Amino acid sequence: MRTCQLTAHGQPGRFEFRNLPDPSPGEGEIVVNVRASGLNHLDLWLESGGLPIKVSLPRTPGGEIAGVVAAVGLGMTDWQPGDRVAIQSNIFCGECEFCRRGEESICLRGELLGVGRDGGFAEQVVVPARALVRMPKDVDFLTSAALTLAGSTAMHMLTDRTQVRAGDWVLAIGGASGVGSAAIQIARQLGARVISTGSTETKRQLALQLGADAVVDSTNPDWPGEVRQLTGKRGVDLVVEHVGGEVLPKCFECLARGGTIVTCGATAGREVSLNLWPLFVKQQKLVGSYGRNRRDIQATLEWAAAGKLKPVIDSVFPLAETPAAFAKLRSRAVLGKLLIEP
Ligand SMILES: [Zn+2]
Repeated sequence: MRTCQLTAHGQPGRFEFRNLPDPSPGEGEIVVNVRASGLNHLDLWLESGGLPIKVSLPRTPGGEIAGVVAAVGLGMTDWQPGDRVAIQSNIFCGECEFCRRGEESICLRGELLGVGRDGGFAEQVVVPARALVRMPKDVDFLTSAALTLAGSTAMHMLTDRTQVRAGDWVLAIGGASGVGSAAIQIARQLGARVISTGSTETKRQLALQLGADAVVDSTNPDWPGEVRQLTGKRGVDLVVEHVGGEVLPKCFECLARGGTIVTCGATAGREVSLNLWPLFVKQQKLVGSYGRNRRDIQATLEWAAAGKLKPVIDSVFPLAETPAAFAKLRSRAVLGKLLIEP
């Protein structure tokens, strides 16, 4: 099978296309023919060597995979060759105290597909059967690959780690990003009024098309002032945040009394300064959110099948152009998802 492997870290990293033997499934494992794979910021961190975990190279990146079951390991009766599947990228053990209560995103032995083990920028991938999720018949491979990582991350943030009440003000940071574009749609479906941010007119227009009630220009240094203005100086009830760095303190400026910031990423920096006075005086919350649980990815696919959640796809690259897709995501000149089709 053909794979695109990262062989040296860098910006750009070094990629090599290799023909590897087709994988055969061990006990409890499934081999999947990859039909589409989403590219995510996580892949850029892997490429640059910027993850705070040890990664061994060569590694086939790609964690957001949709495909078809090709081969089934011993003892597996739930899956047949030909089944259409999405793969839960946070591989979990299924046995630890957190997995047992359905919180696979904080599994004690969790492993990231495409980081800790070979992922989906290849013709085939082998995963534990418990990582498979059946794809509804009304969802196509590109839609699934565009939503199962970023979309389910947003689902976990808005329906598991926090709650949205009808009429709440929700600020979705980066409305043209994978998480942001899903967050706008999910918050709207839950009855919230949504404000989003974007650094270009095109990105802001996209956020409005996705259902945001208002957008602000994130290149304006006082964009939090605009958010406060839009909410009658009250501030928002919930901020869906995935940027970190200098953006997180600005999110606190947008937050109402009793409000919550939920964060799942730190693409602009992992260390932030935090003023504790407003945090406790206004009884605000800062909530961490990591990956997704099985029920989040199932809900994401069900919502997609029902037309309640639509992916925003920027472009689709053939496997041979995977390095060009990395370069495009790094350039940030992206509107929605980049996908690889082997
Ligand atoms: Zn576990």
